[in-house]
Amino acid sequence: MRKKFVAGNWKMHTTRQTAISLAQELVTAIGQETAVDVAICPPFPYLLPVREVLSESCIALGAQNVHPEPQGAFTGEVSPVMLRDCGCHWVIVGHSERRRGLGESHEFIRRKLLAAVQHGLQVILCIGETKSERDAGQTLTIVRAQLEDSLPALKAEQLAHVVLAYEPVWAIGTGVNATPEQAQEVHAWVRAWLGAHFGSKLAETLRILYGGSVNSANAASLLAQPDIDGVLVGGASLKASEFLAIIQAAKC
Ligand code: PEP
Repeated sequence: MRKKFVAGNWKMHTTRQTAISLAQELVTAIGQETAVDVAICPPFPYLLPVREVLSESCIALGAQNVHPEPQGAFTGEVSPVMLRDCGCHWVIVGHSERRRGLGESHEFIRRKLLAAVQHGLQVILCIGETKSERDAGQTLTIVRAQLEDSLPALKAEQLAHVVLAYEPVWAIGTGVNATPEQAQEVHAWVRAWLGAHFGSKLAETLRILYGGSVNSANAASLLAQPDIDGVLVGGASLKASEFLAIIQAAKC
């Protein structure tokens, strides 16, 4: 039985004060909730103040990006060692806003994934196709390429530190989510791919999240699908009541 996982990606939103307030609202409402795994990923400058707020709760801290090197002359970057030092448990790798928007290559994403896991971080690895790729019937080809270019870099035991997030690019921040059936189709295919490449045990245990315009109205139907093990939430994670309702949906 895979435990449901709800992660909030705050992207480049909040101020120090609103980040603290949002985290406080979540802690007050969730407290020691353990039926669902919950993580929030604030912007880098607010990791430490948010960590303070989360310290007595079960909500885990995550970062939105990481550089593959542990240290060095990489202006503006943040290393996996630094993220661990700041109390991060999770990191998002391969988000489409970085793959497509910032031109991150498969190779760079693979290096980040490997470095993050080697330094003790749990990784949310995002995959997903654009609208034109879906329209051209290439969804599974794109997803397969993203999986093949990243996961084989890891040893079997390292794969236990990865959660996949299927995030169709056309659904991110658009208000148009994939239907539960569309998402389930890809999730089931990904799970079969995992089974074929890494064995049935890993395929049964590795969690696959859905991401893309998830909100309190559509979360339950997405989370009811057999291969959807949680959600990665952008916009709706910025409002405590919305995010809490999504967590509630994951409990049912
Ligand atoms: C995301 O940032 O990963 C995301 C899914 O965003 P949104 O929920 O806003 O579509």
